[in-house]
Amino acid sequence: MTNEKIKISILGSTGSIGRQALEVIEKLNDKFEIIALAAGSNVELLQQQTQKFKPRYSLLGQEGLERICSDKENDIILVAVSGKVGLRPTLTAIENGINIALANKETLVMAGDIVMQKAKETGVKIIPVDSEHCAIHQCIKDISQVERLIITASGGPFLHKSVEEMKQSTVEQALAHPRWNMGKKITIDSATLMNKGLEVIEAHHLFGMDYDNIEVVIHPQSIVHSAIEYKDGSVVAQLGLPSMHIPIQYAITYPERFEGIKSKSFSFADIARLDFEKPDFDKFPSVKLAYDCGRLGGSATVCMNAANEESVFAFLHGKINLYDIYRITSKITENHRVIKSPSIDEIFAIDEEIRIKTRELIG
Ligand code: MG
Repeated sequence: MTNEKIKISILGSTGSIGRQALEVIEKLNDKFEIIALAAGSNVELLQQQTQKFKPRYSLLGQEGLERICSDKENDIILVAVSGKVGLRPTLTAIENGINIALANKETLVMAGDIVMQKAKETGVKIIPVDSEHCAIHQCIKDISQVERLIITASGGPFLHKSVEEMKQSTVEQALAHPRWNMGKKITIDSATLMNKGLEVIEAHHLFGMDYDNIEVVIHPQSIVHSAIEYKDGSVVAQLGLPSMHIPIQYAITYPERFEGIKSKSFSFADIARLDFEKPDFDKFPSVKLAYDCGRLGGSATVCMNAANEESVFAFLHGKINLYDIYRITSKITENHRVIKSPSIDEIFAIDEEIRIKTRELIG
């Protein structure tokens, strides 16, 4: 590698992933030059970050995202905004030949076919930040030799609780994730396991793998971040202590590796045991719903994502119980007429339409 710095921009610099990315960059400050920072609304923190990290520019609000993604000075853009606002800027970056460190779920769940096709055309690398996809990315040498992806799931706070307990869960209980400290939306998705369903859809797009060959396994310790099985039956897994610094750093420095932030070294003896179990799709039907929508393809995952997000918001506002999130999402999805290959404009229109329908159903 040359001594040239990696020119990077961060979309969503004040969020959980964005802040941790800046911690990685601070630690590796001679390796990076920050082109731009963008935040949705946290003016104060963005100002602090701007003073400290001295990007060429920083922008607040959604309009700035497209501008940053058109700036060909960037070697890589970390897309760490949450929600559908990540989609268009990511496409713009890909069109401009800029590599993507992807931490935004909606990009692939809503428009995986379009995004991956465009990346293929432009030769842009999409390096996943999510720990499971990052693990798989690290395991794969030659995708054509891979038979199966095995995505691990911690199981969230209700792993061994009853459906009745889930229905009676308060917002606080659902937000108390045993392993990962994340934003509210994704934490609720982890409690219902919809997060795992979304990750299955993302994995299908990222690695071009059939849904039949993507498996979910519960692994409460979150040490094995995911695994792949090669055609010869050999299984390769990526392990590490649960820390988002590692996958973030991997994605933004790929293909290099640096010491960076390593809180303590890994010890099998300290961990002592690793447990695995089959996911209970009856108790966590969201995973199955995600597989079904993924297999339908087209607008089905757009619909599922929008209905789920609106239902999660309703839960967070105390309007419905945790189990209703699935009930409402599956009902809306059932009534959706799937469009096979929607355009980006159609995707946004469907997203909007489904959100309205979902809110109406919730009342
Ligand atoms: Mg994950």
